[in-house]
Amino acid sequence: MSWIYLDNNATTKIDPSVLEHMLPFLQESYGNASSVQHRMGREANEAIALARHQVAFKLGCKDNEIFFTSGATEAINTVLRGVADAYLRKGRHIITCASEHKAVLTTCALLEKRGIAVTYLPVDMQGQIDLQLLEDSIRDDTVLVSIMAANNETGVIHPIREIAEICQRKDVLYFCDATQYIGKKDLDLREIPIDILTFSAHKIHGPKGVGALFIRRKSKPIQIPALISGGKQEHGLRGGTYNVPNIVGCGKAVEITKNNAQIKIYRDLLEKELLSRVPQCFVHAAESPRLDNTSFIAFRHIKSAELMTSMPQIALSSGSACASGLLDPSHVLTAMQVADDDAFSSLRFSLSKYTERDEILRAVEEVVTTVEQIRSLSPIWKLFQDGLID
Ligand code: PLP
Repeated sequence: MSWIYLDNNATTKIDPSVLEHMLPFLQESYGNASSVQHRMGREANEAIALARHQVAFKLGCKDNEIFFTSGATEAINTVLRGVADAYLRKGRHIITCASEHKAVLTTCALLEKRGIAVTYLPVDMQGQIDLQLLEDSIRDDTVLVSIMAANNETGVIHPIREIAEICQRKDVLYFCDATQYIGKKDLDLREIPIDILTFSAHKIHGPKGVGALFIRRKSKPIQIPALISGGKQEHGLRGGTYNVPNIVGCGKAVEITKNNAQIKIYRDLLEKELLSRVPQCFVHAAESPRLDNTSFIAFRHIKSAELMTSMPQIALSSGSACASGLLDPSHVLTAMQVADDDAFSSLRFSLSKYTERDEILRAVEEVVTTVEQIRSLSPIWKLFQDGLID
């Protein structure tokens, strides 16, 4: 059986047209984009300007509001640490959400050690925050609200327009980690008053190790000091020689993103088939608005780790994180009050524009058969069938 890749929220295959645009900058046109005294340097510089424009055009912002980074993790660190430092005099309080990506949560935990207060908004069983609670949690000393656009594990989409409007009304900066959202959903920054936003190219068929940070130009400029100090690259926000091929790839990857109705059709087919054929399985946050490509499914009374190793030809993710040598249940599911047993039995399927109908059908057959096999040998499943456990 050939390989089936259903782990596109982790990373995606590079689009051939993206690679084609990058290659000249890895081969013949290798100039340093800051060396504008000669032609090769100018070529690289112009390629970066074009990439910046491609991103800005797609997001509905100005070119000088886009800064290239090594990806979302770096951008998140730059913003959270930078705002905490630059706004110390205004306040020492940040609001985020319990189901954010670890890049946000780990950085917030570090800031807490430095005396910054962090409010972690809870999510309900559908993965949603309470907007009233968000509004009520904003204090006089709140400097930043950091809430993602779409969750990488469940695909749950947050109401970013409403969040942005609350923050605008309360005069607090809103930072949106849109790493899973850009390229899957349309976003126009002329219409939604998000102050700061980030995403990563490798989630949208671009190269790894590059992403972008949007910082809105406002009459009261947003203060974010450099995380990586060095030369004057990116207006001094990020020192270091420009990674020209990656930046070119990022621009192209963003430019070619477009809505793809097929992905939702295949994702829905996957869910319909699995839910109807596998007893005791359910989709997390099924009632929430979700990304069209994502389905996080619990196969009750089975360890997802065992399920995955029994289907080595399918690339999936369990959403669990390995911390201190022990496998922890997904913090996202825990935040949604999913029981540990169900969290450990969950597998994330994430599709892309390259996913084919036949791959979905083959993956369904494989999952159905493997779940049956594992359960047939499982004492826990027997206990469940005998009505001795829930
Ligand atoms: N934020 C979200 C929601 C993500 O899914 C990811 C990727 O896993 C990141 C941040 C980190 O992105 P990067 O790999 O560019 O550092």
